[in-house]
Amino acid sequence: MGYEAEYQRSVEQPEAFWAEQAKAIHWHKPPQKILDYYDPPFRKWFVGGQTNLCYNAVDRHLAERPDQLALVAVSTETDVTREITYRELYREVNAFAAVLKQLGVGRGDRVVVYMPNMAEAVFAVLACARIGAIHSVVFGGFAAHNLAVRIDDAQPKLLIAADAGSRGGKVVPYKPLVDEACAKAATPPPKVLIVSRGLDPAEPRVEGRDVDYATLRAEVGDAEVPVEWLESNEPSYLLYTSGTTGRPKGVQRDVGGHAVALALSMRTVFDVGPGQVMFSTSDVGWAVGHSYNIYGPLIVGATSLLYEGLPVNPDAGIWWALCEKYGVRTMFSSPTAIRVLKKHDASFIRDHDLSRLKWLFLAGEPLDEPTATWIHDALGKPVIDNYWQTETGWPVLCLLPGLDLKPVKFGSPGLPNLGYKLRVIDETTGLEAKANEKGVLVIEPPLPPGCMTTVWRDDQRFLSSYFSHFKELLYSSLDWAIRDEDGYTFILGRTDDVINVAGHRLGTREIEESVSGFPAVAEAAVIGVNDELKGQVPVVFATLRQATDEQAARVQAADGMRKTVERTLGAVARPARVYIVNALPKTRSGKLLRRSLQALAQGSDPGDLSTLDDPNALEEVKRALQRGPEVGS
Ligand code: AMP
Repeated sequence: MGYEAEYQRSVEQPEAFWAEQAKAIHWHKPPQKILDYYDPPFRKWFVGGQTNLCYNAVDRHLAERPDQLALVAVSTETDVTREITYRELYREVNAFAAVLKQLGVGRGDRVVVYMPNMAEAVFAVLACARIGAIHSVVFGGFAAHNLAVRIDDAQPKLLIAADAGSRGGKVVPYKPLVDEACAKAATPPPKVLIVSRGLDPAEPRVEGRDVDYATLRAEVGDAEVPVEWLESNEPSYLLYTSGTTGRPKGVQRDVGGHAVALALSMRTVFDVGPGQVMFSTSDVGWAVGHSYNIYGPLIVGATSLLYEGLPVNPDAGIWWALCEKYGVRTMFSSPTAIRVLKKHDASFIRDHDLSRLKWLFLAGEPLDEPTATWIHDALGKPVIDNYWQTETGWPVLCLLPGLDLKPVKFGSPGLPNLGYKLRVIDETTGLEAKANEKGVLVIEPPLPPGCMTTVWRDDQRFLSSYFSHFKELLYSSLDWAIRDEDGYTFILGRTDDVINVAGHRLGTREIEESVSGFPAVAEAAVIGVNDELKGQVPVVFATLRQATDEQAARVQAADGMRKTVERTLGAVARPARVYIVNALPKTRSGKLLRRSLQALAQGSDPGDLSTLDDPNALEEVKRALQRGPEVGS
């Protein structure tokens, strides 16, 4: 069946369509009802069905492919490669699950995982899934404040942390960040399980709280832990994501819907099946990492390649050398990563035998045409953009080469994925925008399987964040979009204060709060400014409590702000530039005019300024831009 027919069926007869897709996974008890939509927009898929993500990702493949590689974890930071078969994965995941049980973790308990791309991160996640614990992976690049906020929201029974990460050969000890986060958190976890790779041997243990994975792993030996069968709609995991407020939202995912959606997308979008190899360069701490480094490939019996390190270390050929060595069929990365590679010679790619590589998928941020063209020419393979969000968990807009490859249109991530009823809505009229007219991209509920079920312990926030933007009950993606007459959709950027730095989603409010934590700061506005390499970078405009013309004092304050952000939120949020001004542009009601600031910083039209309170503030910003930032360039 071609794309059009399959798509129509998926949205017109969703129950029949999804009942069929559900057959792709193992059910301990089959679903009694495919869709329960009695309390819109909340919906339940595969009601009454009992399944388990770990069983589907691991146990299920033991009979047919015990000696096939399940996971290849390559680190060019530690120079260690681990090739793990399904049989070995089963053993390691069971051992990890036994350790979790020994630490008192059970069904429904939360476990925060703070680890880089190492094999144990995958074991930890799957072990949680096995025993019905709810994992919440926190990106290793986030620092203590971010970790503490997530701990307080998830209230975990256990935190699992690596001793350290490493970036470009520089070891980043995690333990001091864990200690700081636990000290800051109102509800710190009673236990911290440390998985050490000997990167930070000096780190001290906290008596009674910290336990060593290696010691417990040796104790449990080859223990086997029975799978906990979960009702399809029980929570499987939480993943925090930034929004308009400083407080991140705990995106909650279910069990059965998640597994079914991933199985479908592995086949139709990513074109990967049993025995084939997928290489996603994402960090396990992002949604892509959950869906396409861990669960997706394993659920379909494929091999997942996990990479820790820079894409240019030891040289810009490393990813392609891995593609050649392991016979990667589908690769999944981000436009920023390709822009990093683009600074190097294309021979780093061409020198490798990539005959088994079929597709390169890119997602997470807009794919610009020069980047798409460069990598397409260098690889000689289709380069496929796809659009989705942490909230959706799998692509919303894409091309589906596993089903029916439609032509690529540069600048568009493609057509609606199966199961997604998409519309573009005019923000003021609330009506459907005409072809080629700008509006907000929305999903008509019920959201398909795999998308978030709610915000952790905050149904109200789920409703107010996503479903309260229009008269009609619609899920707002909070992205501007245009749909052309062929149905291809183009994404034009966020409608809220979220910025996208190197494919990482950051809330400007969170950065503002962090900057304001530096004592000299009176007020700060953070905006995203276009950047050739990273897409966008955070830029700060701040006023000081004690204004000064003394350059050294201004530079010192600006430097302090930058370091505060790095220390509290992590290097990913580090402001590229800090401008110190005497006033910030605000409306008469006191709202910061972030959009005007952003336009000025990018040299474009600042838009409607009729609500501006103090015209001097605008002049102040213009002068600062002319003068140059106090730090950054
Ligand atoms: P995240 O939740 O971190 O995956 O970020 C989701 C946001 O990234 C979306 O709301 C978009 O603003 C942006 N995004 C993701 N994929 C694309 C894409 N292919 N093209 C344009 N923007 C994208």
